Amino acid sequence: MQERRYIPEEIEKKWQQFWEEEKTFQVTHEEPDRPKYYVLEMFPYPSGRIHMGHVRNYSIGDVVSRMKMMQGYNVLHPMGWDAFGMPAENAAIKNNTHPAHWTYQNIDYMRDELKRLGYSYDWSRELATCHPEYYQWEQLFFLKFFEKGLAYRKKAPVNWCPTCVTVLANEQVEAGQCWRCDSMVEKRELSQWFLRITDYAEELLKDLDKLSGGWPERVISMQKNWIGKSTGMEIDFPVQGLKEKITVFTTRHDTLFGATFMSLAPEHEMVPRLIRDNPEQEKISEFIARTTSQEHQERTAEDTEKEGIFTGSYCINPATGEKMPIFLANFVLAEYGTGAVMAVPAHDQRDLEFARKYNLPVRVVVKPLGMDEPLPDELDTAFVDPGLAVNSGQFNNKPTSQVQEEIADYLEGLQAGLRAVNYRLRDWNISRQRFWGAPIPVIYCQTCGIVPVPPGDLPVVLPQEAEMPRDGRSPLPDLESFVQVDCPECGQKARRETDTMDTFVESSWYFARFTAPRKNDDAFDPEAIKYWLPVDQYIGGIEHAILHLLYARFFVKALRDTGYWDLDEPFAHLLTQGMVLKDGAKMSKSKGNVVDPDEMIQRFGADTVRLYCLFASPPEKDLEWSDSAIEGSYRFLNRLWRLVHELSGVISPVGPCMAMEGTKLTPEENELRTAEHEAMRRATRDMLDRFQFNTAIAACMELLNTIGQRRQSLRESPNGPQVLSSALSTVLTVLAPITPHICEELWSHMGYRQSLAWSRWPEYDSRALVRQEVTVVIQVNGKLRSSMNVPVDMDQEELKSLCLEDEKVKKHIQDKNVVKVIIVPQKLVNIVVR
Ligand SMILES: [Zn+2]
Ligand SMILES: [Zn+2]
Repeated sequence: MQERRYIPEEIEKKWQQFWEEEKTFQVTHEEPDRPKYYVLEMFPYPSGRIHMGHVRNYSIGDVVSRMKMMQGYNVLHPMGWDAFGMPAENAAIKNNTHPAHWTYQNIDYMRDELKRLGYSYDWSRELATCHPEYYQWEQLFFLKFFEKGLAYRKKAPVNWCPTCVTVLANEQVEAGQCWRCDSMVEKRELSQWFLRITDYAEELLKDLDKLSGGWPERVISMQKNWIGKSTGMEIDFPVQGLKEKITVFTTRHDTLFGATFMSLAPEHEMVPRLIRDNPEQEKISEFIARTTSQEHQERTAEDTEKEGIFTGSYCINPATGEKMPIFLANFVLAEYGTGAVMAVPAHDQRDLEFARKYNLPVRVVVKPLGMDEPLPDELDTAFVDPGLAVNSGQFNNKPTSQVQEEIADYLEGLQAGLRAVNYRLRDWNISRQRFWGAPIPVIYCQTCGIVPVPPGDLPVVLPQEAEMPRDGRSPLPDLESFVQVDCPECGQKARRETDTMDTFVESSWYFARFTAPRKNDDAFDPEAIKYWLPVDQYIGGIEHAILHLLYARFFVKALRDTGYWDLDEPFAHLLTQGMVLKDGAKMSKSKGNVVDPDEMIQRFGADTVRLYCLFASPPEKDLEWSDSAIEGSYRFLNRLWRLVHELSGVISPVGPCMAMEGTKLTPEENELRTAEHEAMRRATRDMLDRFQFNTAIAACMELLNTIGQRRQSLRESPNGPQVLSSALSTVLTVLAPITPHICEELWSHMGYRQSLAWSRWPEYDSRALVRQEVTVVIQVNGKLRSSMNVPVDMDQEELKSLCLEDEKVKKHIQDKNVVKVIIVPQKLVNIVVR
């Protein structure tokens, strides 16, 4: 008999076409009676080609989506394009074309690539954020935010990337460098649009608790640190000779008596008045110019020399009444806190170094518990821990925690300070001076000032005719047809805003638009929103831990308060997949270690690429690419193919995990049946509950080996064909979400009529696991009360809950509290109750 060869290309095309024609993955409507499941992978930027990182991300999402479908959920699994952004613009400049042209071409190419991988996307919901049909809603949100004061314009020192020719948000600057191109970021004073994310700082922080368990703890703690809440006091220090006060924020107001001088940011707005009468003004100005031209990173680094200059002015310590000289210090930044620091050299290392350098007084006001008060002159390391207050007037000899409260009351009584909370989070600068983004819908009129574009005039469309200047500047400011507009209020000639929005604005709400992407009279359909959101499972890279994930959380809250929904959080569960590495490094063109997905699909087929990505490593760990391992995945699929074809005529569509009670099985039949149910048990546990696809695949591989070893004798035995059929059906069912094409093909080859995509995830029969069972005795408070047979390798948690469910055991527990469960594996469970 001529053996039919496994030719991935043929069967993959065939099944992709089948799913498309059958609309297998198209979600047509919300079904309130059916449980829903919304799985989403972070949508890609259409850079030109997909890379292995994409393949891994989307393969994980696809398994989840297909698995949930097989469990009976109404599954939403959409895909789209985060299509605005600078690479399109730079490519357009290089190729002398329009960014839209480059972008849509890339989208077409990448869509084909994704389709070749057989992902279960509902393509009828595809969207691209650069369509006016999409960004018009964002412009409307902006107008609503503006009306509420959530969007505002201010002149501020902002991050400027000279290479990208645009400003960046704080979140887009990493260690002083541009997140996109690694250039050192400069500070520039510019008028910019901001979104008031700081209004939500407390809620963004507090709601992280709700995400605990659903999100990786690492991401939660990164967001916590970024928001950076600290609790303390704002204290006023009156300035001598000026009717003004310097306000500082401090968390260590218990050390107020030790504040001996004041450090200001050189950019502090009070500086010109403080140095007005100083004959050394020129020297001071020099210092300011030199310091402010330095990078923040450099100024605040631990090993940077602490430098400063005396302003000639003094302020008064409200606790001691003493004069404190006011210094400018390089390590104090204007944007953090109030730009002023009360210096307590005995209890802050930077202040101590500064005090020693400029010969400023050091006063100890906290002494370590049970030790002598340190001598200020001998101090070379600041004492920063809690202790007992000394040299602090009426607060002496009290623990610092108590002093904190008492000083706060005292200062509030004097109206010299207020308890306060400070956040590290700053408002989100969304102005970009580039072309390829959503225009900010605002008009500037000489008479009326800032005038929002009337909602009826939206969208403000990015002009198609623009030509890109070669230096990366936006063409918009010079494009008269775009800029010139009549003022909507007074009708006089006015100018449009030419800044566009940060592309992170588009990705802050796309997941919601996917629930009704073709709705054209509003941004969202309330019914669809209510049914589908939040996203049940979101999947993407850890690099978005702060940026995108923080912005999206903010947007959901801001749109909630604008009346769009009741939602508090966008993503119930988050999986951050590891990177794909080659030779120990992230794949990149410059390192020359890129593995091209297209090439791999051509050589091995999409199923092998998918299988490899899911088998090589658990999703959250990095994956080290190996050529021999992907060949191993390919050989496994070939083995599966040959086995099913070899057993043609023997096997039939009996269904996975076929019920066989009452049938007398031979020991060999029993053995395969046990192996089958054991594989199903492991796969169910590892795939559905834990997303550990690699161990589920391993279980399938073992089962296939057992089938291979027993096939000759079983094809002759009384129930052998049935046992073989059931076992092979189980292999195909478990693998279906992972390698869907080959599984569909072999499934139909076995004689099944319905697509495997719609099959139900089978349940294993624990009675079939008999070979690997042991008897475990169950005690309550050390007394034997029951016993049960369980699988040898049963998970301890599973065993524990099974025992607690036992009727006899329950009788002895009744309403007492279970304080402890002691498990001696494979022997005994002792439940301690009180
Ligand atoms: Zn840059
Ligand atoms: Zn006007």
